Amino acid sequence: MAPAPVPRSEDPATQANYHEIVTEHIHLDWIIDWKEKTIGGSVQHTMRALESTSVAIFDSSYLTINGVTTASGTPLDFDLPPRHKVMGSALKVTLPHELKKGETIDLVISYETTKDCTALGWMQPSQTASGLYPFLYSQCQAIHCRSLVPVQDTPAIKSTYSASVTSPLPILMSALGISPSREEMSSPEIDPKVSKTYTFEQRTPIPSYLIAVAGGELAFAPLGPRTGVWAQPAVLEAATWEFKRDTEKFVSLAEGIASPYSWGRFDMLVLPASFAYGGMENANLTFLTPALVVGDRSEVDVIAHELSHSWFGNLIGCANWQSFWLNESWTTYTERLLTQALHGAAARSFDYIVGRLALDEALKQMSHEPRFQRLHVPYKVGEDPDDGFSTVPYDKGANMLLYLERLVGGLEVFGDYHKAYVQRFSGLSIVTNDWLEHFWQYWSQFPEKEEILRKEFDVDAWLNGEGLELPVKIEYDTSLADNAYDLAARWDSARSQDSFPEFTAADVEGWTSNQVSMLLDTLHKYEPFSESAVEAVQKTYGVNKTSNPEIKLRWLLFALKSGFYKEEAAKWVQGQGRMKYCRPTYKALAKVDYELAKKTFLDAESFYHPIARDMIVKDLGL
Ligand SMILES: [Zn+2]
Repeated sequence: MAPAPVPRSEDPATQANYHEIVTEHIHLDWIIDWKEKTIGGSVQHTMRALESTSVAIFDSSYLTINGVTTASGTPLDFDLPPRHKVMGSALKVTLPHELKKGETIDLVISYETTKDCTALGWMQPSQTASGLYPFLYSQCQAIHCRSLVPVQDTPAIKSTYSASVTSPLPILMSALGISPSREEMSSPEIDPKVSKTYTFEQRTPIPSYLIAVAGGELAFAPLGPRTGVWAQPAVLEAATWEFKRDTEKFVSLAEGIASPYSWGRFDMLVLPASFAYGGMENANLTFLTPALVVGDRSEVDVIAHELSHSWFGNLIGCANWQSFWLNESWTTYTERLLTQALHGAAARSFDYIVGRLALDEALKQMSHEPRFQRLHVPYKVGEDPDDGFSTVPYDKGANMLLYLERLVGGLEVFGDYHKAYVQRFSGLSIVTNDWLEHFWQYWSQFPEKEEILRKEFDVDAWLNGEGLELPVKIEYDTSLADNAYDLAARWDSARSQDSFPEFTAADVEGWTSNQVSMLLDTLHKYEPFSESAVEAVQKTYGVNKTSNPEIKLRWLLFALKSGFYKEEAAKWVQGQGRMKYCRPTYKALAKVDYELAKKTFLDAESFYHPIARDMIVKDLGL
């Protein structure tokens, strides 16, 4: 077991006394109660004192605490004060004696989750592919792990974990599965009355937000020697086709960019449609939205993204949510290098253009709270990091790294720095200043480069700047976007016509779905169009009938902006759990018909994961 690094950062989203005592290993002993929709059992924390202390404080949220003991079973006093609205209840355990610096202790907390748990999504059988069994999955980032298990819920510290989970339906966790084997699990005979025990080990120290669990009807298909995909049996074949061509290749390419892949396996789990994110980089087992399985492999950039987190986020992690941009910027930057390796420099640039459109939109949306337009977000004590979540930490930061790459003379030069960053911080939790210190230290070896950086790179403007603009103008290679720009401009010029015979399906022949998305994004930026123009776009390019959710989203946003297709949007959004799709759709729908948006959400509320549900409630002001 690796010793936990001494934390020295402040995390305003935790109540744990992690400066005094830290968890080095977690053992979970769980029983899944599918009927009551709870997880119960115990957690054993192996802890080490960093200072003399006689108390260990854990984060907990909506948990029922049944008791705390030492490993040998001696009961310990504990206190659970009233909950803080965001941070939950601080579970204060009185230690049997004062621990001296360096001493260790094992504490066992018996507890159960409750119906208010914000980490777990429980799907009814009717919400799954086969309709036969329920499905369960967790989402702990940012601060929801505390509603699944009492922990020091801060990315400032990392621990290994092991788990023993008893359930009648197969279970997966963000760890290496020990027993049963993948093969045994892959096509299980499910008897809802017979429980089995599933055991797991996570041998690499991880922050609490990477603890994850999922369960339900599951099947597995290998993609490569180190990679594979889990999904509901009905989805497995399509998911395998979607990801098989690229996944193992991405791992090898990323190793060339960063360092050898150190986690053993990279498996993915395709969840039911209510999953709130595109992907979540849970250690060893990335969770994915089924919306990526579109049949044309156009969404594999999400795989490149989640895989890149194996280094950026999961090995080098932010130590607090103010420094979250370190995870997402480096990951997005690396993801696009993988795209470049497979599809060329123009494809990388195209991804920057797509990301930039979303970034500009996010900066606009965050105008009410300019702090959230910053790369390094100054969160206040007890503030929910989910509130500041947007594409800003992804794309503002990826643009900054691209800018720096260009300043020092290109990828060849910057690539060595990229590797040096991985080497310096692997296994650690760091804050923005750690990054900056190392940055200057690294470039001081190359005085010419350092001089350019000192002269040009406005650190403060990039990290702490607010507003709608980036500190410098970033140029992109638009060769893959120009067709879409031109076609959109033609529609704009023709907007006052009654019919549009000059536009045909041939306009977009041979285009990738990303280019079609770009067309719709560009159309969306214009003033609203007439009903006949909106209808003509739909008929000409078949965008309403698409099975690609990226296209469907943009089509609906375009149509809604002009005031049309609100019933269609209402129907579609009830099946979209990914926040990237459902939040903007609800917002756009609310602008056209607030009552319809509200009714649509209330009818489908139980479908959404608690995190998405909360966000939509806030977005709609319910
Ligand atoms: Zn990410």
